[in-house]
Amino acid sequence: MSMRKVYLDHSATTPTRPEVVEAMLPFFNEQYGNPSSLHQYGQWCRSAIEEARDRVAKLIGAESEEVYFTSGGTESDNMVIKGVGFKNFEKRGHYITSKIEHKAVLEAVRFMEKLGFTATYLDVDEYGMVHPETLEKAIREDTILVSIMAANNEVGTIQPIKELAKITHEHGALFHTDAVQAFGKIPVDVKDWDIDYLAASGHKFYGPKGIGFCYIKDSAKKKMMRLIDGGSHEIGMRAGTENLAGIIGIAKALELAIADLDTEPARENKLVEMLYKGLTDALDGVELNGHPTERLPGFLNMSFAKVEGESMLLSLDMQGIGLSSGSACTSGSLEPSHVLSAMGLDSIRAHSSLRFTLGRQNNVDDIEYVLRVLPPLIEKLREVSML
Ligand code: PLP
Repeated sequence: MSMRKVYLDHSATTPTRPEVVEAMLPFFNEQYGNPSSLHQYGQWCRSAIEEARDRVAKLIGAESEEVYFTSGGTESDNMVIKGVGFKNFEKRGHYITSKIEHKAVLEAVRFMEKLGFTATYLDVDEYGMVHPETLEKAIREDTILVSIMAANNEVGTIQPIKELAKITHEHGALFHTDAVQAFGKIPVDVKDWDIDYLAASGHKFYGPKGIGFCYIKDSAKKKMMRLIDGGSHEIGMRAGTENLAGIIGIAKALELAIADLDTEPARENKLVEMLYKGLTDALDGVELNGHPTERLPGFLNMSFAKVEGESMLLSLDMQGIGLSSGSACTSGSLEPSHVLSAMGLDSIRAHSSLRFTLGRQNNVDDIEYVLRVLPPLIEKLREVSML
């Protein structure tokens, strides 16, 4: 009997949906023109790209010229953070972000600090929430950009983006959100949130890897510089021949993800509840990390006292279960997650955490399998634990 395969790491990446692959395929061999070419081979592809841009714009409440295709979330975050900084290079200026951002944001802000800009990294509460008052206190006259993620990728906590953007604008600064984890999980409407910039990534919502987009509000475009110089691609903001198939794919994936918003999040949350209940019934010393209610659907981050996350992860991997732990093995030393640390978890609890992120293919059988495998495994690890 072959081993059951249960993938529970959808916040790391998702499989590309067959409908998405199908939509992309003609753009590898039948429609291969360069969208910048003036002949019909190029112009077919140009219209396909502009159609995809229109579609993405409509789905997020933007205008077509406000959507810029990039290589993904990391690039979109860099594009905004550095782009706004370079526009303000003479006077430099102050950035505000949070302690629980993805590295794509944290490292971009740190880079700007090296160039003479200043930065404040906002604290979060025990659930990973940025409080509007914290921003209100930190914002200054020279603040140029506030960058707060829409939802966190380790614990799923959803931030009060609308309020944070409002405070930012009251102080004359620009607001960016890394919304990479939000798509397909919660509604995203850039006009309703009233934000200036947003980063998105295709492979987090069943689109292909290596494609993303950046929303840049019309009035905020002149307040940044472009990072990638060359031709006039992407409405002058990002040079380079477009990732044609990827663009077709991300538009299709977004359309499907948003069509599923009415059903899929609720379905995943039922499975999360089942998993949470099963684990807390079976084991002592189990704690939830993240917000009890303001949390992305399908997200469950838990600490299991007296066991080490990495050993659980490796043992589960041998049983066909794929997920992440709250520590990252960097250069041989086990660093506790910066997110869990910022939430005030001690290093031991951070080290004993697992992140389950569910997705479209998961079903009740998967959860039952995890509930059969994980509790005895934890009991066994606890017997030999040094923690
Ligand atoms: N921001 C967040 C919150 C993420 O979870 C990720 C993916 O891990 C990224 C940015 C980076 O996106 P990409 O993989 O498209 O570069």
